[in-house]
Amino acid sequence: MQLKGLERLELPPAADMHVHLRQGELLELMVPTVRRGGVDTVFVMPNLVPPLTAVDQVLEYQSKLRALAPDVNFLMSLFLHPSVTPEVIAQAAAAGITGVKMYPQGVTTNSESGVSNLEAFYATFSAMEQHGLVLNLHGEVLESLAPADTTLEEAFLPTLKTLHERFPQLRIVLEHCTTAAAVEAVKACGPTVGATITAHHLYLTSHEACCDPFAFCKPIPKKPTDRDALVKTIVSGDPKFFFGSDSAPHPLASKTSAAQGKAPAGVYTQPYVTQLIILALEEAIERGVITEADVTQEKLEGFLSRFGRQFYKLPEGSGKIILERKGEKIPASVRSEDGEVEVGISRAGAEVFSLKWEA
Ligand SMILES: [Zn+2]
Repeated sequence: MQLKGLERLELPPAADMHVHLRQGELLELMVPTVRRGGVDTVFVMPNLVPPLTAVDQVLEYQSKLRALAPDVNFLMSLFLHPSVTPEVIAQAAAAGITGVKMYPQGVTTNSESGVSNLEAFYATFSAMEQHGLVLNLHGEVLESLAPADTTLEEAFLPTLKTLHERFPQLRIVLEHCTTAAAVEAVKACGPTVGATITAHHLYLTSHEACCDPFAFCKPIPKKPTDRDALVKTIVSGDPKFFFGSDSAPHPLASKTSAAQGKAPAGVYTQPYVTQLIILALEEAIERGVITEADVTQEKLEGFLSRFGRQFYKLPEGSGKIILERKGEKIPASVRSEDGEVEVGISRAGAEVFSLKWEA
């Protein structure tokens, strides 16, 4: 495949294994943008207000999502909390809930009720292992707990290893990995450990994330060498690494009115997620990080669609998405019809493939 000059591309629908669809008016605006980005299956994060810590809350949320987009498969998660006991895990498994998300307390949006001591949840993890639920890790430590010479993500990696050793049959996803070290740590674990990689960590570095509110997110993008390690990982064809956009919308005004460095963390990519991955690969080819020959149809399909479904034991997607170069540019935002809610899109103005669905 020669991406440069390629006019048309057909792919299976993408599976986005890490999304934030929020609630209220924001949710109504967000859900229809899932399929616009070429995605038919999403793993939905539970960090709402209040967090989704009970099975019936999760099911109620899922039915709202389904009502807005009946043609999307919404995989659901519980928020790890002391009330998520082994009994709740058994109920969750029976109700078809897919995973449990662990947020260290206070690391990102709506994580105030997160975890401060993982060992307190070992009985829960054991029940998850038994019932086949996936543990999704926001793999960062609190800033106050990280040694000065390392990133918050790298400081978390020994915890990943400990959990995997203690619960070798538990499927664990290190969410949104951002460093070369995280990639190596995931590779060093057995086949029950995988990781998601976002679109935006393939093109942002700390240089943009520090100062542009629309590039500010957690985990913070790292060095150019880390970005390039992620790009190389997704064209390596290793099935442990699959797509999870971590698309994280915030109202436009909360981003633009915040003082420097105080904007809420999150990059919104959902309506263009597939195209943003391809754009990042094209840019990496131009930088000389990878070559045209590294990007094959098979590797694109693996990363965007197959590997995530395999890890989550789902069937392959049906239908097809078609990408064509028509000079389309990413607009600045998506906005509700009444204009009440508006969310800025990452890389506004960039020229990308146009995407359509074929049955
Ligand atoms: Zn997230």
